[in-house]
Amino acid sequence: MATVAVERIKGGSFLLTPIGQLPQFTPEELSEDSKEFARAAREFIEGEVLPKDAQIDTLDLPLTIQLLKKAGEIGLLSIEIPEAYEGLELDKKSGLLVLEEMSKQASFSVSFGAHTGIGTLPIVYFGTEAQKKHYLPKLATAELLAAYALTEAGSGSDAMAAKTTAVLDGDMWVLNGTKMWITNAGFADVFCTFAKIDGQHFSCFIIEKTDPGVSTGAEEHKLGIKGSSTRTLILENCRIPKDRLLGELGKGHKIAFGILNIGRFKLGAGCIGGAKRVIEYTLKYTGERQQFNKPLHSFGLIQQKLADMATKIFVGEAMNWRTIGYIDDALAEISWSDADASAEKMKAIDEYSIEASIAKVWGSEALFWIADEAVQCFGGYGYSAEYPAEKIYRDCRINRIFEGTNEINRLIIAGTLLKRAMKGDLPLMQFGQQVAKEISNPPKAAAFTGPVARLKHGVELSKRQCMLASGLAVQVLGQKLVDNQEVMARMSNMMMEIYAMESAIVRAERMLESGHRWAEIARDFTELYVNEAWHRVHGDARMLCADITDGEGLRHALAGIKAFAEFHPTSCARLRGRIASQLIQKGGYPIELA
Ligand SMILES: Cc1cc2nc3c(=O)[nH]c(=O)nc-3n(C[C@H](O)[C@H](O)[C@H](O)COP(=O)(O)OP(=O)(O)OC[C@H]3O[C@@H](n4cnc5c(N)ncnc54)[C@H](O)[C@@H]3O)c2cc1C
Repeated sequence: MATVAVERIKGGSFLLTPIGQLPQFTPEELSEDSKEFARAAREFIEGEVLPKDAQIDTLDLPLTIQLLKKAGEIGLLSIEIPEAYEGLELDKKSGLLVLEEMSKQASFSVSFGAHTGIGTLPIVYFGTEAQKKHYLPKLATAELLAAYALTEAGSGSDAMAAKTTAVLDGDMWVLNGTKMWITNAGFADVFCTFAKIDGQHFSCFIIEKTDPGVSTGAEEHKLGIKGSSTRTLILENCRIPKDRLLGELGKGHKIAFGILNIGRFKLGAGCIGGAKRVIEYTLKYTGERQQFNKPLHSFGLIQQKLADMATKIFVGEAMNWRTIGYIDDALAEISWSDADASAEKMKAIDEYSIEASIAKVWGSEALFWIADEAVQCFGGYGYSAEYPAEKIYRDCRINRIFEGTNEINRLIIAGTLLKRAMKGDLPLMQFGQQVAKEISNPPKAAAFTGPVARLKHGVELSKRQCMLASGLAVQVLGQKLVDNQEVMARMSNMMMEIYAMESAIVRAERMLESGHRWAEIARDFTELYVNEAWHRVHGDARMLCADITDGEGLRHALAGIKAFAEFHPTSCARLRGRIASQLIQKGGYPIELA
């Protein structure tokens, strides 16, 4: 497939670029080194963590600490730490594979993620040389464990409204305030903590558990991830040395949002990893349980669920690996020894904030849907704590809340696209003009080639429907668009579906062209997903128009959308039947990455 030469792929450009013209990393291209590392992570999770699944969920924190230390011994905590500070400095792909494995035990994966991600990365990207030298080697081995303290009782989504204060008193900062919902607070030694200097300048500080004035509250009684520690962090005249300011004074938002952005694409990958475990035990159960003298998995409506679960896994993987490919390519251009390396690396990651939010929202909603259908497949036993479906249903609910709620992330997806278009970073307006001209001559199916040509045509039509509706929203609402949250969310939903469809199509096409062993099921997954996602985009585009105009204006807008609606469905029932029989034969999601 020909690709255009691009210096660095612009985040969000998938919406405006013809399918196949942007480079796309697919998990089938993972290097042997990355796979090797993933196998080590699998051995660890299957050998050390999963056998203690129930014990972890009793909130046995000494056990969690012991497991984190073991993970440190085999290098799993130091993947993203630069070599200069005794880390492995591997690419993000290796990190993602490890996360997928860790997510098989939800509580442990949250503790692991909070330590290696939001707890450690602020120091990796924003620490001074002295801070990095002091903390990172110890964080790599779990000699020190980390947490990230941003949220307060009164400021969650509106994180910048934090009330915790920091005042300079001679050579010491004095901090006061209470942070809430802090993962790992029950055992963390180091807290990257946000406070406002003189009540004004939002900044980040490294707080140590042993600093005077530091304490933690009681463990929260949570709906799920019961084995992860969640407490308040209380700072009462907490005095820390002046050099514990992390990053620049008053620039704490860069750390807070930059680090959350990284957390988002990881969370998306973790959700897909978790989903693989769910489909495995759901397939097993539906094969064993008999009703009407037949195994449950022989019924069409159970097969429908199994096929849709696996399809979401395939599509989610395609999106996540595409995003991580962009991020790794951008990061590879910047060496840690370059001047301003940290800032440049953060900028490179931030370029893909639209894709990172998509991974978070799409992945967390896919896993929640999968967990819900797993409960349904188990019937009454799905409601019993004796069976695994009940636990994942509770455990995965948090993913739609933390790392920015899905509402906030939906606002980020469309909001960032609009901001970039206004700044001239993305040629959205030009694409809008092109689409307006194409109404009388829309792209024809015959213009697309290759084994999934029909689906490529479908996604190009979707882009145009999304563009027409979004363009109308910009035209009618102008500056007020960003305050019209339902319209913004519809735009984001369409963008997510387009990214999902396109990523899956390109992945399936590559598998078909290279004769991959699972190419045929990849084609079926993709066809099934595109069949239905196409109609969701079509519906959203029409409904969005109805939200912003009526009468003749609406009729005109709908006629425009109809010009790009020559896409006929194929039988989803046939596709699902074929997929389900493969899944039943294999006893799990068939495409192994490592
Ligand atoms: C188990 C757990 C672990 C956590 N771990 C950490 C951690 O380690 N560190 C940390 O700092 N925080 C952590 N958090 C906090 C988490 O990030 C916040 O709960 C989350 O950001 C939401 O904030 P909130 O709870 O105050 O909800 P609110 O901000 O009050 O939101 C409530 C609802 O209103 C919606 N809403 C809010 N603002 C808007 C808006 N502008 N437009 C539309 N809808 C809106 C939200 O989407 C949500 O549905 C954790 C939370 C939990 C439950």
